[in-house]
Parts: sequence; C-alpha cells; structure tokens
Amino acid sequence: MKYVLVTGGVVSGLGKGVTASSIGVVLKACGLRVTSIKIDPYLNTDAGTMSPFEHGEVFVLDDGGEVDLDLGNYERFLDIKLTRDNNITTGKIYQYVLDKERRGDYLGKTVQVVPHITDAIQEWIERVAVIPVDGKEGPADVCVIELGGTIGDIESMPFIEALGQFSYHVGPGNFCLVHVSLVPVLNVVGEQKTKPTQHSVRGLRGLGLTPNILVCRSAKVLDENVKEKLLQFCHVPAANIITLNDVTNIWHIPLLLRDQKAHEAILKILNLQGVARQPKLEEWTDRAKLCDALHDPVRIAMVGKYTGLSDSYLSVWKALLHATVACHKKLVVDWVPSTDLEDDTAKEAPDAYKAAWNLLKGADGILVPGGFGDRGVQGKILAAKYARENNVPYLGICLGMQIAVIEFARSVMNLRDANSAEFDPDTRTPCVVFMPEGSKTHMGGTMRLGSRRTYFQVTDCKAAKLYGNVSYVDERHRHRYEVNPDMVPEFESAGLAFVGKDETGKRMEIIELPAHPYFVGVQFHPEFKSRPGQPSALFLGLIAASCGQLDALLQNPSHLSKPIPGRISSNGVFLPKVYQNGHQKGHTHMPAKSLVNGNYYSNANGVHV
Ligand code: GLN
Repeated sequence: MKYVLVTGGVVSGLGKGVTASSIGVVLKACGLRVTSIKIDPYLNTDAGTMSPFEHGEVFVLDDGGEVDLDLGNYERFLDIKLTRDNNITTGKIYQYVLDKERRGDYLGKTVQVVPHITDAIQEWIERVAVIPVDGKEGPADVCVIELGGTIGDIESMPFIEALGQFSYHVGPGNFCLVHVSLVPVLNVVGEQKTKPTQHSVRGLRGLGLTPNILVCRSAKVLDENVKEKLLQFCHVPAANIITLNDVTNIWHIPLLLRDQKAHEAILKILNLQGVARQPKLEEWTDRAKLCDALHDPVRIAMVGKYTGLSDSYLSVWKALLHATVACHKKLVVDWVPSTDLEDDTAKEAPDAYKAAWNLLKGADGILVPGGFGDRGVQGKILAAKYARENNVPYLGICLGMQIAVIEFARSVMNLRDANSAEFDPDTRTPCVVFMPEGSKTHMGGTMRLGSRRTYFQVTDCKAAKLYGNVSYVDERHRHRYEVNPDMVPEFESAGLAFVGKDETGKRMEIIELPAHPYFVGVQFHPEFKSRPGQPSALFLGLIAASCGQLDALLQNPSHLSKPIPGRISSNGVFLPKVYQNGHQKGHTHMPAKSLVNGNYYSNANGVHV
C-alpha cells in the first residue's frame, strides 16, 4: 500500500478536499486503484451531531456513517463507496483507546498521547486503507489521506506526530506528502507573495514532516520567479511545485494537476512509475468543457433553512449540477430562505417576503431538501403547496417529502391540524410520526441511517421509470420520523400515491402525485449517490421536468445512463442532438442570491464557493 498525505497551510477553505480528491482522480486515471481516508481532528465522534450551518452538510454513507462532506467529494470523484471508518476523528480514536484502557489492555501502563494515541491512529489507517471501496476484491494501490484543518492547529498535533512516525514506518517510496498552501496576491502591487507558504512549510518541517510536493492555490498561474523563490525557501524541486489557479468549474482541477505532471511527481516518489500508464482523462476533459459551454439556464428554487452557506446542502447542489449538465443546461440555484415565505415576514420584512416569493415564482423547479426542527416549516409547506397547485416540478427530500404530505393532508384532505410529531408532539392529526426504533434520549447515531431498500409498488410511475424500471432501489437514509402508516389508506384514496415502500410495506419511501407533471417526495437522500456523468434518477427527473425534457426522457430511458449526445460548436455553444423540442420558460428577474454551475475557486480570497 502506498500513501499520499495531503495537508493544508495558511488558511482553511483552500479546497484541500477537492485537491486531494483530484489527486485521487489523476492516479486512478493512471490505472491505479485508489481509496481515501479523511482525518477530522475535532472531538465529536462523527459529524452527525454537528450543525450543517457551521460545518457544512453531514454526508451519509451506505453503512450509515454520518461523516464529513469531504467523503462525499471522494465518493463522487473516485466513484467509490467508503465506510464510516474512512473518516477518523479525535473522538473515535480516544474512544477506541479509552475502551481498551477500561478492558485492561494496557494494564500496568500509563496511557499517553505518545505512544498510545499515536499508535492507535497508525493502526487505524493501516486497517482502513486495505478495505476495498471500488467494488473490486483486495486492497487498493494507493490511499489518499487528507488531514483536516491547518498545520499548527492544537488539535491536529497527535495526528501530525502519528503521521510523522507513520512515514518512517512505511518507509521511503511508500509515502508522499502533498502540502496545499496559499499564494496570495497583494492588490496594491499585484505581486504573488510566498511568505505565508514559506512559514507553513517551516511549520510542517518543525513538526517532523517534509513536503514532497507543494500545491499552491492562487488566483493566477505562479510567475516563474515566484516558483524560484518557493523552491529556494521550501526545498521542493520545481517539478514538484504545482499551481492551482482559479478555474471555471471543479472538474478542471484534475486536468490542471495532469497538465503540470503532478502525477509523474507523485508516481516517482511512490516508486510506481513502471506500474502506471499515462492518465486517461477524456471523460473529465469533456465534462469540464461542456460545463463551461452551457448557457441555457434552468432555475431551481432551493427552499431551506440554512441558506447562508452553500456547503450546508453540498450534495444536493452537486446532484442538481450532475442532472443539469446531463440535460445540457446551466444550473442556477436560487436559495430561498423558507422563513421569508411565511406570513409573519410579510409584516416584519416585506421586502424579504417579496424577494423570496419572486424567486419561488420565477423558478422552473422547486426543491425542498432535508432538515430538522420546526423553524421555517410553514414556509416549506407554502412552497410545496405552490408547486402542487401550479404544476411546478417539485422534489421533496426527506423533510421535503414529509412537509409535502402535511400540506396534502391540510389542503386536499381538509385535515387542518395535520402535522408532524416533530413539530407538534401533541398534534391530534399526526400524519408524520416518530419511528418506533428511534431514541429520544441519545441524538448521536440513533436515526434510521444508511442504505435501505425501497420496493416499487407500481411500474407506471415516474420514479420507477426514472430508475430504469427496476423492482427496487437502495438509497441512503437519515431520519427519525416517517409517514404515519395508519393514515396511508386515507391518503391513497385522496389521490396521493405511495409508489415506493420498504420491505415491510409499512414504511413509505416515495410519494408521487400522478396527475402532476412532476411532484415527487422521497424519505431517503438520493443526492448522496449522484455522480458526475451518472446523475441521480430523481434529480434528473426534476431537472428534465423543469426544462420540458421529461417526456422525451421517459420515452427514451436509454439516455438515462448516457450523456445526452450533441456537440460543442466553434463558438462554444452546446448543440444537443435530442430533446430539441423541449420548451423553456421565460426568466424575467435576477435572483437575489444565485450559484451558477460549479463556480469553484472563484472567490478572490481563495475560498471555495
Ligand atoms: N427531521 C425529519 C426526520 O427526522 C427529516 C430528516 C431529514 O430531512 N433528513 O424524520
């Protein structure tokens, strides 16, 4: 097993995770099998109890692990399936060591950070690195380890110490350290400054780690004299200094690495030159170019609670992007704070109310993502009602499905006090209830989590067709509440179709309104399994419906798994071969807040937006 360790210096938010994933992509393109480990030095056992508002989304794995969103990047970029143990936290390591101490495994010894914690970290890495994650048998060739945080953080010290020991333990030729740093540009003189990188490399060396490769994040390509300075002060050969300048979309990053021969430098350090082939990245090149060429917008209103930080819904946004690129449109996400849609806002902040409703009404499709707690629920219900009554394509994910059910009960079935027990534990009409197996005392890891099977109940529904007429699908879950099974017959006779259920037939997984152009709600989170080039079926359905392509898509499902054929004209416009009869609604307003495509690295401060 060969290891590539990726550390970060100077500031956080440099896109270290995307850099590490992209290194994996290039190595995979050289014919190597790649796995990855993310180290998060915080004390939480896992990301499950952390607020997506502060920390970004909680990513869910097949095995039910609630992990850092960077594992989502690895899964998407490398098309792998990771396990909960691929995310190491200080909490997990200490818990492991303290359990051993209580069992008496260290009997007689003083248990210390060095060697007990540092040994536990190394053992963990070696154990997890060999777990196959790409569907093949046997261990991968290379394990990319990303150390979260920035060099110098107090809480990452035991990991740095452990990784220093580890590099000796695995020996030269098996360990490559890539340090990602920032080269800022001073606006006054426009000069690229190397001092922050020099300092962070010095810090790294002081802690016993020597970088083999320097990846410099900068707005522009590094000037030659800047590279010169870096190699003088950081003792890294020129061939091993890579610039990651701002690019128009995230899929360019592996190409940037390849163009600068980062793979050759890494393969040399890892003694893999004889084994690897030239990187094959045609698919990535095509996708990156296609994404840049798309200009015809599809507007999706994302009605949620955490609208300030796009990372809070990262996988949903990526899944929308994958589907939009497959339909050859340009994604425009309008973030609509759900509270702004509520009547109270009309009185307290009429401008915000008006702006929110304008965004919702200007959207081609509406998405209500997962969420917890009762804040903004009324606004989400209003969004679902608007979509249902106005035939606007709607996708409700987890909470987004539950609120669609509540809205249906209130508006269509006239059950005015219908509610979820999550928002009103004493509701007289609980159409969403607490699941019997849940815990009300322990929040961490007690939800219905991970991959569960959904069986289609009918074949003649949009969801089944979009999934390719399979009899079941496995998708990832993260919830405590579910549609009240006792009320299902009532709902069904009022016209709400439960087209997907679990193996018992008691748990509702997919709802649809058959007469609506596209009104789908799912108890699971399809966003976690979406991949570039293989968009999630229900996201593809939402986008296709939002740009008038759904009928064509359902008639010709062979296009579901393949990119839509077409070509890019000499002036950079994409000319699709099919779906030319799709209609496009007019767009008359500019959104207050929009995220257009994957504008990665576009922020002047080097912040991943
Ligand atoms: N809060 C809801 C539940 O626990 C929905 C969860 C979610 O959207 N992930 O069931």
